[in-house]
Amino acid sequence: MNILIFGPNGSGKGTQGAVVQKKYSVTHVESGVIFRENIKKGTEIGKKAKEYIDRGELVPDNITIPMIISRLQEPDCKNGWLLDGFPRSIEQAKALDEALEKAGIKLDVVIEIVLDREIAKNRIMGRRLCANDNNHPNNIFIDAIKPAEKDGQMVCRVCGGALSARSDDQDEVAIGKRHDIYYDAKTGTIAAVNYFKDVAAKKGTKIIGLDGKPGVKEVSEELMKKLG
Ligand code: AMP
Repeated sequence: MNILIFGPNGSGKGTQGAVVQKKYSVTHVESGVIFRENIKKGTEIGKKAKEYIDRGELVPDNITIPMIISRLQEPDCKNGWLLDGFPRSIEQAKALDEALEKAGIKLDVVIEIVLDREIAKNRIMGRRLCANDNNHPNNIFIDAIKPAEKDGQMVCRVCGGALSARSDDQDEVAIGKRHDIYYDAKTGTIAAVNYFKDVAAKKGTKIIGLDGKPGVKEVSEELMKKLG
């Protein structure tokens, strides 16, 4: 099962992605996570990507596209993948479509979480990252996934791990830039979603639209129902 998941930053895409990843036991490939790992390790990619990420801009295609296309060809992706955070533009959508076509890989499902921009922004600012696992959901503004407390400290609600906020999650200018890219229906991420909606019928890809406004649990249930 090969799946693409779209949703603006703050729509719960990571949380719902983790649910899908578990259901199908596919490899979760997240472009943002790959970049952050590269930054942590001080790799060439990390060094080049950091300034763009801090500004909330897209890392250039000549770095991002080959990085993702080669990641999808690694052995752990043979039995399926869930791609999250890529493509983010019409150019990346075309590059992915062409690479899949060339490799004879079918895209089975496209999931799109739809959420109003202002709500998404507030959710981003409340998000906290667990030091042990990026997929442990914690958000100080969402009751269902509020962090736990230990010795007066906020800790991960799943494993008790240390929590931190991403610096680009606390910067309103950077958030605005990321959302400008997402909601751009001409060349941005919405354009990439529409690109896949257009080719879906021809290629037998299932398209799933989800309202991201309800709580985490309700959205998950809707998603499971639609996945069948
Ligand atoms: P995310 O964790 O998905 O919010 O991604 C964090 C940052 O990584 C983004 O703001 C971009 O700077 C960079 N990034 C992630 N995915 C892509 C992509 N598909 N193309 C270019 N840059 C990306």
